[in-house]
Amino acid sequence: MKVAVLPGDGIGPEITAQAVRVLKALGNQGLAIELESAPVGGTAFDLSGDPLPAATIAVCESADAILFGSVGGPQYDTLPRAQRPEQGLLRLRKHFDLFANLRPAIVYPELAHASTLKPEVVAGLDLLILRELTGDIYFGQPRGVRTNEAGEREGFDTMRYTESEIRRIAHTAFQAARKRSGRVCSVDKANVLETTQFWRDVVTDVHKEYTDIALSHMYVDNAAMQLIRNPKQFDVIVTGNMFGDILSDEASMLTGSIGMLPSASLNAKGFGLYEPIHGSAPDIAGKGLANPLATILSTAMMLRYSLNQPAAADRVEAAVRKVLAQGLRTADIAESGRPTVGTQAMGDAVLAALG
Ligand code: NAD
Repeated sequence: MKVAVLPGDGIGPEITAQAVRVLKALGNQGLAIELESAPVGGTAFDLSGDPLPAATIAVCESADAILFGSVGGPQYDTLPRAQRPEQGLLRLRKHFDLFANLRPAIVYPELAHASTLKPEVVAGLDLLILRELTGDIYFGQPRGVRTNEAGEREGFDTMRYTESEIRRIAHTAFQAARKRSGRVCSVDKANVLETTQFWRDVVTDVHKEYTDIALSHMYVDNAAMQLIRNPKQFDVIVTGNMFGDILSDEASMLTGSIGMLPSASLNAKGFGLYEPIHGSAPDIAGKGLANPLATILSTAMMLRYSLNQPAAADRVEAAVRKVLAQGLRTADIAESGRPTVGTQAMGDAVLAALG
């Protein structure tokens, strides 16, 4: 197994260093994982004038998965759009056709205080939002601003999904549910939008191949409400690009701790890019304060979804649970006035908990 490690900018190198230590520890215990690093984002731009150099793409192509830190920083904000750090990430998604975005929202009992919701509503929450990432109204043509027949200017976009696009994300959802509690809720607006009635019909058809999985459907307005009212009713939520954009941010904030949340973006072959959902945190970069747990948990997702090592994934997640139970906290997840540890010490604790 080979993993391309792309640390990126800001806190990216600090947090990926801790995840790499975890992978190396698993390697020492018998898991054959080769690691190769390559620059991306602003760091790559500084070195070569390109946020995604051809050599970095080549390293990723030779790998089974990408471990990605974060990109961006204020020093790059005035660059032309094509040279900006985030283009490195967007081009990687496009190059590898990463159409399925998996974002778990987990609330560890010890961190339930960090949520703005009541602890009893969120404690123990473990849901997965699966967002289609390459279709929908964000990419549909035609789009633009025109003058209509009445002589008034109007803006327009096109919501569009092909059957094959819906089928592949539905398969991903049912297969992900098999690795969890076996329930999928498909979110749409089938009462109003033709495209999403079609979405519902196709998801229902694909479900015939997964009789072991329970499928339900929910309108997006109700889903937005239910996520706040009773989020623990969900296991896997699958939805289109626009609804997923909004619901995944809503779900991540149920946890209240951005430094804890991993993500995966997968293609049809199971190749994936794994990254924390947070950015490069320039305000704390280089200070050894960043929480590495979202990146370490992204590594666990990589072991589960791309490297097919569920036992190793379970071990990494159990190690994270253990350090939280032991009371270790980086500043972002600590209750005020309580002692905190830095990035390296948190990595040390996870390694010790791995055994
Ligand atoms: P951010 O997620 O970087 O930071 C928001 C806040 O959360 C900051 O106060 C930061 O210190 C804190 N934070 C984030 N991650 C943390 C961690 N692991 N541990 C402790 N605290 C953490 O968002 P932002 O400030 O809006 O953006 C900063 C830069 O990151 C921008 O250049 C933006 O474009 C980029 N960005 C990149 C990605 C990505 O690489 N996928 C995603 C979002 C933002």
